[in-house]
Amino acid sequence: MKVTRTIPEIRSLTSEWKREGERIALVPTMGFFHEGHLALMRKGRELADRVVVSLFVNPTQFGPNEDFEQYPRDFERDLALAEGAGVDVLFSPEPNEMYPPGHSTAVEVEGLTNGLCGASRPGHFRGVATVVAKLFNIVAPDIAIFGEKDFQQLQVIRRFTKDLDFPVEIVGHPIVREEDGLAMSSRNSYLSPEERRSATCLFRALQKARDMASQGPVSAAGLKEALEKEILATPHTRIDYIFAGDPETLEEQDEVGRGSLVALAVWVGKTRLIDNAIL
Ligand code: AMP
Repeated sequence: MKVTRTIPEIRSLTSEWKREGERIALVPTMGFFHEGHLALMRKGRELADRVVVSLFVNPTQFGPNEDFEQYPRDFERDLALAEGAGVDVLFSPEPNEMYPPGHSTAVEVEGLTNGLCGASRPGHFRGVATVVAKLFNIVAPDIAIFGEKDFQQLQVIRRFTKDLDFPVEIVGHPIVREEDGLAMSSRNSYLSPEERRSATCLFRALQKARDMASQGPVSAAGLKEALEKEILATPHTRIDYIFAGDPETLEEQDEVGRGSLVALAVWVGKTRLIDNAIL
């Protein structure tokens, strides 16, 4: 596996592959790999001839009071894991390489970013869309793979890819979970043992939503109230949002049933966790 730090280096590799008619998959990440990341890389291996993984803790998608500085990093471990997953090249630029002095252009997706994480993390999706658009221009992949764990992010990326005519096929990958249902996340490493036990309340709440809607549509207000109760009965938790609505438009629905999206953001201690399910 090659490691590249600069835009010209990765460009010369991928343009060489393209000349040879090879299909390129891109998996954008912020590192500290777990099975969720590795599943995306293996999917890339399956769907393309070459797999590029970007590892970049993107400063523009963190708010001023968020965890950019503390975000977990372990470059050596990540190298070994990516290599084991069959990755061809790991692109890991410094912030200055991606945002040289004077940069002042951003990608802003309207509408889809108003609610859910967009409401509690102003500017987050602008940072995400901008860095992913840059990665598309730098790597020129045929396909790019993203986890459904970050469901709103996936929809935002699908939207700007279409709106800005990027010739990239966006592939969503199902959420990879721990045995007890907790969605894998680099941020799970922040949890104390006791908080780790509490963190299963997100999955339990989503199971409850599935049960409630299994016999047909139910009132979104009633469903949210039941989920809120389930979560708040768990120690160390504080709810950021509970969303129940349309997975395409990300608009709330009064009644939810088969095909509706239920998405949660919950603070467990000082760690904000997200999870979701399509009913
Ligand atoms: P991150 O490094 O957290 O920015 O995540 C990089 C990519 O991995 C994103 O497309 C995430 O949606 C995806 N991802 C993270 N956790 C999971 C998971 N548990 N299951 C599936 N995909 C995931």
